[in-house]
Amino acid sequence: MARLIILGPPGSGKGTQAEHIARHFRIPAISTGDLFRTHVRQKTELGAEASAYMDHGEFVPDHVTTAMLRQRLDEDDAGEGFLLDGYPRTVIQVAALDEMLTDRGQALDAALALTVDDHELLDRMLRRAQEQGRSDDTAPVIRRRLELYREHTRPVLEAYSNRGILLTVNGSGEREAITEAAIAAIEGALAKKAVGA
Ligand code: AMP
Repeated sequence: MARLIILGPPGSGKGTQAEHIARHFRIPAISTGDLFRTHVRQKTELGAEASAYMDHGEFVPDHVTTAMLRQRLDEDDAGEGFLLDGYPRTVIQVAALDEMLTDRGQALDAALALTVDDHELLDRMLRRAQEQGRSDDTAPVIRRRLELYREHTRPVLEAYSNRGILLTVNGSGEREAITEAAIAAIEGALAKKAVGA
């Protein structure tokens, strides 16, 4: 059982790593971006509201995102643990998540940050744009998403670092090697916690 967060700039391979790491720990990977994309595909009201922001690389307003996540965390499969991907993205969302977890008598075990240099990020995102045809993977939108990451999400890493639960893993290289390094780092943190270190 583990309650985890994965952090990293757009294009850092977060989503892919989240799937593999979550499978290892037998917990659901919960991606707010994927939840939004499902709403958009299903043409729900929430999807219509979110897509206007997503298409421009902007954050969807906190009240929408947080309400959606709260509902997802209430589903049975998230009761024993989860790996959040794409949330929290701002320090306000850090506080909102704290509140959600406190309400449930839960706490985070670790926040894993993937680091990738800027050149590689841009390359990867442009490649993904061609492969997956995501409407938010055009050059100006990518730039905006990277800018928002630097401005608003970097402080989230700092917040978890100050709490002593931030783990950093190099996100460049072979997918399998990165997954292994991430799992080892998380297992190390869980073991330490178990002995109360
Ligand atoms: P992602 O798949 O994580 O890159 O998210 C795709 C898009 O969904 C983002 O660019 C935002 O528009 C929106 N989004 C996802 N998660 C959040 C969040 N925690 N807060 C605000 N917007 C979000």
